[in-house]
Amino acid sequence: MKIFKSKILVLLLTMVLAITFVGCGKINTMSRIKKNNKVVMGTNAEFPPFEYRNDKGEVDGFDPAMAKEIAKELGVELVIEDMAFDSLLNALSSGKIDFVAAGMSVTPERLENCDFSESYYTASQMIIVRKDNTEIKGRDDLKGKKLGVQEGTTGDLEASEIENAEVNRFKKAIDAVLDLKNGKIDAVILDASPAKVFVEKNDDLMILDEELTNEEYAIAVRKGDKEFLEVINKVIRDLKASGKYDELVKQYIE
Ligand code: GLN
Repeated sequence: MKIFKSKILVLLLTMVLAITFVGCGKINTMSRIKKNNKVVMGTNAEFPPFEYRNDKGEVDGFDPAMAKEIAKELGVELVIEDMAFDSLLNALSSGKIDFVAAGMSVTPERLENCDFSESYYTASQMIIVRKDNTEIKGRDDLKGKKLGVQEGTTGDLEASEIENAEVNRFKKAIDAVLDLKNGKIDAVILDASPAKVFVEKNDDLMILDEELTNEEYAIAVRKGDKEFLEVINKVIRDLKASGKYDELVKQYIE
C-alpha cells in the first residue's frame, strides 16, 4: 500500500512538473502586461520619422505615438526597448518585448515567426543616389553596382535580388547614406519616408522616382497572441475613425 501511494505521488509530481515546463514555453502576454502594469515595445530608433531620438534623447516618432495609444487602451505604462532592427523578432519570440512597432513591413518570411496587426501605413523602397551621378536612373541601372542597405530589412531583400550587385549591409540606414555621400557606394535602397528625411538634410543626394516595392507597415506580436492583437487592431481602427491617425501623419510624416 505504502509503495503504491509513493508511486502515485511520484506520478503526480512528474505531471505537475511537466505541465509547468510546457507552460513556460508560452507567454501569456495579456496577463503579464496587467501583472507588470507595463507593455514593452521593441523598435530601432534609427528610422525617422517613424522612430528616432528627439532633442531630449527620448525615442519619439509616429510609432511611439501610436504605441502610447495602445498603452492607454490597456491602462498601463509604455516601456520602449531600442535595439538593432534585425534582432526585433527574436526579442519578441523570447519575450523580451511584447510587440514590435518599427516601420516593419509585412512579409511572408516574417509571418512564419510572428502575427501582424492590420496595416497602418503603405510604403515603398526607393533608390537614393548622389545628384552628380550620371549612370543610375532606375532599378535596371543598379546591376553590378555597390548598394547600401539596412541589414535585415526589405530594402536588403530587394537589393539582394539585383544581379551582380555588391550589397553592403549597415546596422543603421544613416551609415549607408554617409557612405553614399563619401562615394564608397553607388546607391542606397531605403523606405520612402526615412529616405526623404535623410535626403532633405543632404543636398548632394536625391531620391529617384521609381517605387521598387509596395509594402504595408504593421505591428508584430507573438504568434497566436490573439487577445493582445485585438486590442492593437482596435486602437488602429479607433485612431483612423477619430481623425487622430491623420493628425499623427501630419505631425510626424508630412
Ligand atoms: N520597412 C522595412 C522593413 O520592414 C524597414 C524597417 C526599418 O528599417 N525600421 O524591413
